[in-house]
Amino acid sequence: MPQTDSSHCPLCGQSNQCAMAAGLAPAQCWCMAQPIAPAALQRLPPEQRGLACICPQCARPLPTRQESQSI
Ligand SMILES: [Zn+2]
Repeated sequence: MPQTDSSHCPLCGQSNQCAMAAGLAPAQCWCMAQPIAPAALQRLPPEQRGLACICPQCARPLPTRQESQSI
């Protein structure tokens, strides 16, 4: 059975900073405090889903210029 690398983001290959992959309590994971963009999950190929967490950068919703007029 091939070992699944669950500590790296399948989208960008960087560390996903997953608390569970680091041996910490799941409640300490960043994904509990930050919403995951549905569009980010849709970029994952089906065979990659559920194997490894994505990283905070990829989970962040893409900035929409329509809603950021004040910047
Ligand atoms: Zn990533």
